[in-house]
Amino acid sequence: MTSQVRDASIESILANLDKIIPDLQAIYIDLHAHPELSMQEVRTANLAEERLRQAGFEVTNGIGKTGVVGVLQNGEGPIVMLRADMDALPVKEATGLPYSSKATAIDREGKTVPVMHACGHDLHVTWLIGAATLFAKARDKWQGTLIAVFQPAEETASGARAMIADGLFNRIPKPDVVIGQHVMPFPAGAIYWRSGVILSAADSLQIRLFGRGAHGSMPESSIDPVVMAAATVMRLQTIVSREIAASKSAVLTVGSLQAGTKENVIPSEALLKVNVRTLDEDIRLHVLNAIKRIVDAEAEASGAPKKPEISTIDSYPRVTNDPDATKRVVDSFYSSFPKYTVREIAHPMSGSEDFGLLGEACNAPSVFWFVGGTDPESHEKAKKSGRIREIPTNHSPHFAPVIHPTLQTGVETLITAACAWLLSSSS
Ligand code: ZN
Ligand code: ZN
Repeated sequence: MTSQVRDASIESILANLDKIIPDLQAIYIDLHAHPELSMQEVRTANLAEERLRQAGFEVTNGIGKTGVVGVLQNGEGPIVMLRADMDALPVKEATGLPYSSKATAIDREGKTVPVMHACGHDLHVTWLIGAATLFAKARDKWQGTLIAVFQPAEETASGARAMIADGLFNRIPKPDVVIGQHVMPFPAGAIYWRSGVILSAADSLQIRLFGRGAHGSMPESSIDPVVMAAATVMRLQTIVSREIAASKSAVLTVGSLQAGTKENVIPSEALLKVNVRTLDEDIRLHVLNAIKRIVDAEAEASGAPKKPEISTIDSYPRVTNDPDATKRVVDSFYSSFPKYTVREIAHPMSGSEDFGLLGEACNAPSVFWFVGGTDPESHEKAKKSGRIREIPTNHSPHFAPVIHPTLQTGVETLITAACAWLLSSSS
């Protein structure tokens, strides 16, 4: 890392990073091997709490069930909130890493499922512990208040809401900016930013279709929900292809289709689970209305005895980066990191996050960016051979960020971004 242009105060806050890396690596490996499902992050939250206390933060735990917030007051000055999410996913790890997860847990439906940090939230927690520790060690180099938020249940879009509903913002000073970051399958060491919308809105729906069960040999006695579901799935695909203009975008995925138990029994119900991603509110509303229109009409076409039931599984708003705050962060990145590692992305990503709710709830600007986690060499090789789509993405059982330099980069980005506020009274 070239650092001749980095601000001297940032440089001295980061001076202890090398010293704490072995400790951070041990934390990361421990978290990776012990992932916890959304709203079950008890062990992870305890670890975060312990580390914040050791560093001298004033800590409140159990916010929104397992959320933890630490406040470090260090004189007059801006108030900066840094957020990390803590939860893992019901995925069976297949990375082959020596510190792979063998964990299982009971999910919301009471089923035992494998658990893996397949989205890299273990890195997010480690990065924030690293940044909090370094800021606490170098209190003479900055001024203001640092707030570290360890949030549960990002993967179910419920954690930020739960912390807000549990009075998060009544227990802490009001932040001037809310900052977050996510590991992505970009080359490790690289930072990707964007002003304005950076992540799409996501809506997940469950659709129950009602038919009439019968013997497989007597279809005339049935109203077959399998055929109804098949027709519905095909017709839903025309929303994006036929109803959305070429200049706009949306994604509609039917990720689950369940019906029946046996080849000669026509079931009485079918269940679809649908995921929608959009970047504009008007497109979002159009797609959601079109889903309802098609689902109802296909049921009617089948002669369904009852209207389908459509319910929301979860709903993520877009993540929108405040232009002024983003400029402040990005200027700080460009003067602290080698130019080629800081990259602007042209389009928002189709992933989603509940991060944006925090800034919205306290009426503060927020900034979110991505940190690469894929081994740069294998990324380059994949790019050259046209196999970039084969790099394991977040949520893949093969998702395995390289520890170095990913661990260092994420701590450096958090500190560099926060310093765009916390050094402002002294520089
Ligand atoms: Zn995820
Ligand atoms: Zn994630």
